[in-house]
Amino acid sequence: MSLPVPTTKGIRDILVDLIAFDTTSHKSNLDLIGYIADYLAGFGVEAKVLQADGQPKANMVATIGPNVPGGIVLSGHTDVVPVEGQAWTKPAFALSEENGHYFGRGVADMKGFIAVALASVPMFVEANLKAPIHLAFSFDEEVGCKGVQEMLPFLAGHVALPRLVVIGEPTSMQVATAHKGQYVAKTRIVGQEAHSSRPDDGVNAVVVAAELIGFIDEMAKETRETGPFDDAFSPPHTTFNIGPISGGTAFNIISNHCEFDWEFRFLPSEDGPAITGRYEQHFEDVILPAMRAKFPNCNITNEVWAFLPPLKAEPGSDGESFAMALAQRNASTVVAFGTEAGHFQGLDFPTVVCGPGDIAQAHKPDEYIEIKQLEACARFMHRVAEAMRA
Ligand SMILES: [Zn+2]
Repeated sequence: MSLPVPTTKGIRDILVDLIAFDTTSHKSNLDLIGYIADYLAGFGVEAKVLQADGQPKANMVATIGPNVPGGIVLSGHTDVVPVEGQAWTKPAFALSEENGHYFGRGVADMKGFIAVALASVPMFVEANLKAPIHLAFSFDEEVGCKGVQEMLPFLAGHVALPRLVVIGEPTSMQVATAHKGQYVAKTRIVGQEAHSSRPDDGVNAVVVAAELIGFIDEMAKETRETGPFDDAFSPPHTTFNIGPISGGTAFNIISNHCEFDWEFRFLPSEDGPAITGRYEQHFEDVILPAMRAKFPNCNITNEVWAFLPPLKAEPGSDGESFAMALAQRNASTVVAFGTEAGHFQGLDFPTVVCGPGDIAQAHKPDEYIEIKQLEACARFMHRVAEAMRA
């Protein structure tokens, strides 16, 4: 029996609905999750809606076929980045079409993938699967992968070990097996205020911030010069950045406070916690004692407020070769952006990133996706169904 592969129109109809929900990360995604749950119920598929802690948001997991090991997880995030401040010439939350492209916030990142997965549900249901196809949709990916972290315990407890997890972020349907990890932190410095004419009466928090930023910049230079290196990535080493900084009150007051955000993106082979550990050790051992010798109330804290584990390649693994067969690719690649993949890999689920569209179109005004990318994804889903019913 041949399977009902999703049609371009079937995908479009669902994508129209998905784009119409404004699921910018700071808003609720409950209407969208409700829509998906209703849609799945129409095919006799039960959606497990996992309410977020104290927020109008939810993750959703659904299983088609028997919940036995060896299945496949199709994973996507339901939130999108804001459109405010962007010069859109097309409606952001209403799908439009032009020259073989769909336009709208999230068509590439990543409601296009979710639309194809949903349009494939009738095919999955009819396939009489021997191994399951799980759908796992998260919230708040774009603001630090918060939703998926709440979903992990459910997956660990209720989803039989899958053969593969596919994170459908836009890779133009290439199989990406690795990306860098990321730490984002805020350093806060408490100094001692005094009149600027009396330097011995104060500790200048802005000067301390400059010292700490200098230390981070030294780590960046050292990494650039001495590695470690991995030529799969561009640039082939861990990178650092200093973000917004604020502090001080006036030019004639010794600044008693300063804070800044900083981040680093580290190679999968590197130890992320060791990098923050080295930084914290430096200020605890060197800078803070000198500050406190003058004024005991001085303080430095470093709060890691977002952490993205890296996705580590598993060359020659079953997961990698299975993913390449599904995508009909001879080689895998890496991506420069972060995804939820490392969190799934943390459960020992073999994980790759593979989805329709180009990341270059994500997060931009007039975000678009080529319709033929969605059609390629539909063929991928057909091979998924064939593999799981074999
Ligand atoms: Zn995304």
